[in-house]
Amino acid sequence: MRITGVETFLVPPRWLFCRVQTDEGVVGWGEPVVEGRAEVVRAAVHVLAEYLIGRDPLRVEDHWQVMSKGGFYRGGPVLSSALAGLDQALWDIAGKVHDAPVHVLLGGPVRSRVRMYAWVGGDEPAELADGIAARVEAGFTAVKMNAAGRTSPLPTAAEVAGIVDRVALARELLGPHRDVAVDFHGRFTAAGARRVLPLIAPFHPLFAEEPVLPDRPHVLSEVVGASGVPIATGERLYSRWDFRPVLEAGVAVVQPDLSHAGGISETRRIAALAEVWDAQLAPHCPLGPLALAASLQVAFATPNFLIQEHSIGIHYDQGDDLLGYVLDPEVFRFTDGHAARPTGPGLGVEIDEAAVRRADQRGHAWRNPVWRHEDGAFAEW
Ligand SMILES: [Mg+2]
Repeated sequence: MRITGVETFLVPPRWLFCRVQTDEGVVGWGEPVVEGRAEVVRAAVHVLAEYLIGRDPLRVEDHWQVMSKGGFYRGGPVLSSALAGLDQALWDIAGKVHDAPVHVLLGGPVRSRVRMYAWVGGDEPAELADGIAARVEAGFTAVKMNAAGRTSPLPTAAEVAGIVDRVALARELLGPHRDVAVDFHGRFTAAGARRVLPLIAPFHPLFAEEPVLPDRPHVLSEVVGASGVPIATGERLYSRWDFRPVLEAGVAVVQPDLSHAGGISETRRIAALAEVWDAQLAPHCPLGPLALAASLQVAFATPNFLIQEHSIGIHYDQGDDLLGYVLDPEVFRFTDGHAARPTGPGLGVEIDEAAVRRADQRGHAWRNPVWRHEDGAFAEW
């Protein structure tokens, strides 16, 4: 079997899919994307694809080695995300050839269902309350929310109070048997994080995500030590080498994104590395159906998995939904806040190719907002 072509599709709301064709008619799909830089990753996919054309798709690991290292310059969001989507597509082909879901090829299931969390948006208490009520009604046992909107790097007394009030309200609404995770989006300095984390600790968040930016593991250990709140990070880290310093700093939860961190192959290795530091895996996934399908395959095969993110109903993606690109939306129907084990071959999801081709005609040019502080200086989004 030989790879005969690689196509890419720029699909709303902000995603990029790839389709790897073989001479035996087996097709693999993947999702190589950096949100806001999809066109750049698209170009990188086509550069990496030059190597794949004419080669055996089943040599997944050898192709991973060459695509990640063979260009001399390596790592970073663009190259690692291009590689990630192609890696997903190669695993999809391998599963289809062997008529097995990817998690079976990875050693078989280690759990019978996968716990999911749902996003809640809303900056006002009433919106937050409505959002949480809807998620609880839908059966979710965990939600994640932003700690705050635009925030000073060293938060003011009022900003601190606002964050504490949000977490307290979430805990009150969720009760003791559900979880809330809090995302800080790297908006604080280490000192700001040290101030806030002990104050939300009494409400027992599942984890606090990116309390500081991920490129400063040298201050992360102080943040980890500031409270008993488990610290999570990793959506902006791209390889096991990137994860080592944050694990050494004591993070409790690693959040590689299956579409950024080298795909299924590298996320498996990041999870194994995390196990050495007693950390758990909670893959980042505000993305489309292929990234989520790949995440679920890893979740079912990974012992130190904690919980999975998904984008259905997320506040960024109004108007387009991952369910619009699949022929079998049932695989993403969650029961009691959990995903069932996918049984289809490969990634376990059937892509609606006609819908993908139509969406690519529309395309998108999604960019994240650029925020400013009140004095006009750049603010972390
Ligand atoms: Mg995040």
